[in-house]
Amino acid sequence: MSKGIAPVRGMNDVLPGQMAGWQLLERVTRELFSAYGYEEMRMPVVEHTELFKRSIGEYTDIVEKEMYTFTDIGGDSLTLRPEATAGLLRAAISNGMLRGARLKLWTAGPMFRHEKPQKGRYRQFHQIDLEALGFPGPDIDAELIALTARLWKRLGITRVRLQLNSLGTPAARAAYREKLVAYFQQHESSLDVDSKRRLGGNPLRILDSKNPDMRSLIADAPSLPDYLDEESKAHFAQLRASLDACGIEYQVNPRLVRGLDYYSRTVFEWTTDALGAQDAICSGGRYDGLVGLLGGESTPGIGCALGMERVVELLGAVPPAAGPQVYVIVAGESAERKALELAETLRDSPQAPSVHVNLGGGSIKTQFRRADQSGATLALILGEAEIERGVVAVKPLRAEGVQSEIPLAEAAVRLAGLLNS
Ligand code: ATP
Ligand code: MG
Repeated sequence: MSKGIAPVRGMNDVLPGQMAGWQLLERVTRELFSAYGYEEMRMPVVEHTELFKRSIGEYTDIVEKEMYTFTDIGGDSLTLRPEATAGLLRAAISNGMLRGARLKLWTAGPMFRHEKPQKGRYRQFHQIDLEALGFPGPDIDAELIALTARLWKRLGITRVRLQLNSLGTPAARAAYREKLVAYFQQHESSLDVDSKRRLGGNPLRILDSKNPDMRSLIADAPSLPDYLDEESKAHFAQLRASLDACGIEYQVNPRLVRGLDYYSRTVFEWTTDALGAQDAICSGGRYDGLVGLLGGESTPGIGCALGMERVVELLGAVPPAAGPQVYVIVAGESAERKALELAETLRDSPQAPSVHVNLGGGSIKTQFRRADQSGATLALILGEAEIERGVVAVKPLRAEGVQSEIPLAEAAVRLAGLLNS
């Protein structure tokens, strides 16, 4: 091991050999989102700390213990974004994009949470995030879920399962919350430390507990669907009917509350049994009150985020991108300039083949080895002798065939012919 400066714990480099899966995911999502009418936008990775406290909620794991918060030189409290929704809404409000508009937006990039690093759980990780603003649903809810289902299909990911729930209106949640508090207060001695703390601040979050010792207590707790308001029930029934019509399978999970405070009505989560403990790959929900809470005009919204590291892991081995079409072997130092010139001429031509030039010299044998490793279809060999005669030698690398010569002046057209044959 060479010495050097260590990377930050829980933050990963993605090396060239690992990029194929990332690129596949990025390409497929970009195409699919555009086909569903979603537009890309990008926001800063740093926001005012207040934004996350207000939107995600004080009594969430993220705000309580996972945020990278610091005071900058100007004295402002800033935070590295732990998720994308808050920043995207902040941007929609501060750029005056709402004003009764209906927006379908997506963004992607790194997020930061100070969690315990383990497989599938990192301190810098990447999300792709979709948000639809100005649609009260449930049609958009169904379409968004259908989009995610189609994404798994396009990526060839099959071992996934969709869980669905409705949290109702804030009023219905408040009524449920009272029942829940009363229940957990009766059993306060059986609560773990986290749950005790949440009991005062955000008791619904106790349902989200990952502690196995809490499981049976949670199983017997009052059930949210019993407290749903009529309108939310109708919204949920319509969503389910649309999903049925689209042939999308799901399970209703009354205990699914999601970790963030801002959700109302629809919440959903895609999980997989192929990744071990870190099984959530995409989750989201409706947040009709959030834009108002952040100081924008009241606008309904729904969104979801997928964890890129986990999805890339699910993709498994993805074949790397194809090598160049042409590799130029430079026979002797005196041919270097002409080789670069030839490569630029080829790149200028209408066919614009992908060309790698052997740089830094090397024996002909070494250069042929590099040409082979590059994955190129054809090798061009250019030396003093060829230059004098105004030709360049061509040798197929992937198919049987003998070395031949083509005139330098016709190289682009002749190569195009050979590459297409
Ligand atoms: P989990 O239950 O795994 O902690 P979460 O509910 O905190 O997930 P969200 O905040 O909804 O996750 O983020 C959406 C997605 O981002 C998750 O489904 C997951 O795929 C991914 N994700 C969340 N936290 C991490 C992390 N620390 N490292 C890698 N991926 C993550
Ligand atoms: Mg989490």
